[in-house]
Amino acid sequence: MTAKIPVSVLGATGTVGQKFIHLLADHPWFEVAAVAASSVSAGNQYGDIVRWREQIALPERIAALTVQECAPPLPGAIVFSALDADVAGPIEQAFAAAGAHVVTNTRNHRMDADVPLLIPEANLDHLALVDRQREGRGWPGAILANPNCSTAALVLALVPLHRAFGIEKLFVSTMQAVSGAGYPGVPSLDILGNVVPYIGGEEEKMEGESRKILGTLGPNGVVPASFAVSAHTNRVATIDGHLMTVSAGFRKRVTPDEAVAVLRDFRANPRVACLPSSPTPPVEVDMRVDRPQPRLDLDRGRGMAVTVGRVRACPILDLRLALLGHNTIRGAAGQAVQIAELLVAEGRVDRPT
Ligand code: NAP
Repeated sequence: MTAKIPVSVLGATGTVGQKFIHLLADHPWFEVAAVAASSVSAGNQYGDIVRWREQIALPERIAALTVQECAPPLPGAIVFSALDADVAGPIEQAFAAAGAHVVTNTRNHRMDADVPLLIPEANLDHLALVDRQREGRGWPGAILANPNCSTAALVLALVPLHRAFGIEKLFVSTMQAVSGAGYPGVPSLDILGNVVPYIGGEEEKMEGESRKILGTLGPNGVVPASFAVSAHTNRVATIDGHLMTVSAGFRKRVTPDEAVAVLRDFRANPRVACLPSSPTPPVEVDMRVDRPQPRLDLDRGRGMAVTVGRVRACPILDLRLALLGHNTIRGAAGQAVQIAELLVAEGRVDRPT
């Protein structure tokens, strides 16, 4: 059996950090070698300090690890970051400067011109930014970013339609789960039996990040896609899963049947489809009248597929639809693991001999 690749997890005690531990527990290529968190947690055994909320038993080997400070060196050429954004920026830079490939879920570097903001099924070619980043910053490692959780689901669902028909205008309204706010997140008295029509910074992230991901790689970085996005983000009392309703206008004429056919036929590039975390298909279409629903459809593709339904004509723009994505898997840890798999498959990170 080939030896596994050691990886470290920053922010391992948090909501996304725990999802990393869960997804990496039986990973065919990777093995968690170190867990790190704030100095309050550091020095304790992970099993003693973590408020474990994943639906598998905490692996004994991980429970016994001593939580480290978030500073290099930590073992492994790949470092996953699930850090609080208030502290993530300089920590992630320090790891890249020390030679690690940092795959991050934080917002800090997503819009940097030399940082790839990746959804592997959507913009594989943007991976080339890693070489510019290493050359420009003079560091041996690199930072690669995952988009914000709602953007990840939105863009994965729309990339087939954008390629086929060219998005011109996008209107999206979200219903986002409480786990998207981390732990303990939104106070229960604010969210139970309620909807909060505001998530700080989320609308700006969806509007900017979606255009970068679907943009074109040019000599000075990514030229953002030219469509206009209007995002309305809402926190609702679901636990996991971001549901959203979308209206979109396109450059080419498109009927609902044509859109459904394009969504159903969508497959990732074979360089991505072969990765252990890649779902096939990446976009599932369910045209039953009341789908998708978080409780029923969230785990499709082991949380890595997005589900699209209710594709129909829109009297204002061209099409409207509903979509659902798992915020801590496709929108965070699962896709970060997929990006790390891509780094290995593309020969950017060595496998142990
Ligand atoms: P969280 O539950 O609040 O966890 C935050 C983590 O950061 C904890 O491990 C915490 O460690 C650590 N931390 C806090 N202050 C620190 C410091 N000064 N030094 C080192 N570590 C520190 O948050 P989360 O929801 O997992 O989110 C993590 C990141 O992913 C955020 O940037 C978030 O925006 C992003 N994200 C979240 C989601 C989601 O669905 N939740 C989706 C996409 C992206 P302690 O336990 O020791 O305090």
